Amino acid sequence: MTDNGTRPGEVRVRFAPSPSGDLHVGNIRTALYDWAFARSTGGTFVLRIEDTDQSRVKPEYIDSALDTLRWLGLDWDEGPGAGGVFGPYLQSERLDIYAEWAGRFLKEGHAYHCYCSQAELDGRREAARKAGGPSGYDGHCRDLTAAQVAAYQAEGRQPAVRFRMPDGSTTFTDLVRGEVTFDHAHVPDFVLARADGAPLYTLAVAVDDVLMKITHVVRGEDLLSSTPRQIAVYQAMGVPEAQFPVFAHLPYVLGKDGQRLSKRNGVVSVNWYRGQGFLPEAMCNYLALLGWSPGENRESFTMAEMASEFDLARVNKNSAQFDVRKLESINGDKIRALEPADFVNRITPFLAGTGLVADPPAAADAELIAAAAPLIQERIATLAEAAGMLGFLFADEAEFSIDEDAARLLTAEAEPALAAAENALSGLEVWTAEVIELSLRTALVEGLGLKPRVAFGGAVRVAVTGRRAGPPLFESIELLGRDRALGRLARARVMALGGDDPGE
Ligand code: GLU
Repeated sequence: MTDNGTRPGEVRVRFAPSPSGDLHVGNIRTALYDWAFARSTGGTFVLRIEDTDQSRVKPEYIDSALDTLRWLGLDWDEGPGAGGVFGPYLQSERLDIYAEWAGRFLKEGHAYHCYCSQAELDGRREAARKAGGPSGYDGHCRDLTAAQVAAYQAEGRQPAVRFRMPDGSTTFTDLVRGEVTFDHAHVPDFVLARADGAPLYTLAVAVDDVLMKITHVVRGEDLLSSTPRQIAVYQAMGVPEAQFPVFAHLPYVLGKDGQRLSKRNGVVSVNWYRGQGFLPEAMCNYLALLGWSPGENRESFTMAEMASEFDLARVNKNSAQFDVRKLESINGDKIRALEPADFVNRITPFLAGTGLVADPPAAADAELIAAAAPLIQERIATLAEAAGMLGFLFADEAEFSIDEDAARLLTAEAEPALAAAENALSGLEVWTAEVIELSLRTALVEGLGLKPRVAFGGAVRVAVTGRRAGPPLFESIELLGRDRALGRLARARVMALGGDDPGE
């Protein structure tokens, strides 16, 4: 330990979400890179919740953010639930710290009281815009006389605390973007604390990055323009330049239309993907590819590989496009790669979630899930598809229904195939997939002269599974059992002959 509570040379990187909604894919790409950077350098991953804006923050989003990060496997070393010597890690519990710094900045002349009302600010901004001038704060209260201050106070105005941006410019070396310079002519004085004392982001973020000994700020490009303000706050705090955090601004994640990813051009909430049965390892693998790859064009990797191979120097400067198809394809690959028992564990909540089985499933259902899982592991791209594919096995006969689209295959023309299948299966003494296959081939392909695709992909499949596509037919029939299979074939025959579905 050094005397400031950190290990010598320790990399300390933070993820600092604002809990004003569910974490979206852009946030998670940032969190993932923060985590991977910390892990690949043997550093410390700090989670800090930026919840000072009471008008936007909802407490339930804090829990949801922690839950999402845990689900993804992005474990943090310091932060809510993990402790750490630089806490508390919820900014709402650090308000006295920000107030103290705002007071110090006022005393030392780095900040001043600003009495402008919102209406005055808006009016002057609009006038400046019309005149073609700069749009930011115009420095109105920078150098008020004692008499002007007294007059405002007599009016009962409560002042905000505004930072006095020094003249000149800020240059820093961004690990992704290289050298970046901001001319302060375009960085107007900014509010540190509102009139009611509430601290604003730029104050809280800069103070905390310093106090939490953050060495690297790895975050989205949307925050690039706030960097000169944060650096100015470090300077006002008296931090030597050698101790400023190093910045790395990650490229935007765009929608397929090339626009910033938003609710309009894609689904952005990570919890939505979770609900659809995307695996956390697939989410992480895919999101990692939005700006980074481990080299040799490798597109598939594990979290452990990312934790050891991640390198900020390889992060792409260009924006990345979020492509849900690609995510689905990676998800399918990861699903296929699961150990069979793991796959069973992962699909079970999805079967329970749609009410097909109890949570946890009864013993007989658990056995059936385990037996059926291998039939679909190769065939699904998301875990939620398991419920659709296996629903026919768990639905009892009163609940079993045939898809509207699939029901179109149950025509009078198809009835002889259904009758032949029912007849063939009813005579079987042994009920295994091989024997079922043999008897159906004999009855339908040889007996009725049907093409295998028609015999096994058509009405018979629809009759027993209720769908046109699904797991392999003979195994499905085996698992369904004799009574239910024969009952469904009989019921489908009635429908094929124009009767209503007797099951409904
Ligand atoms: N709390 C900020 C946000 O969620 C990010 C802060 C930062 O990374 O500097 O947008």
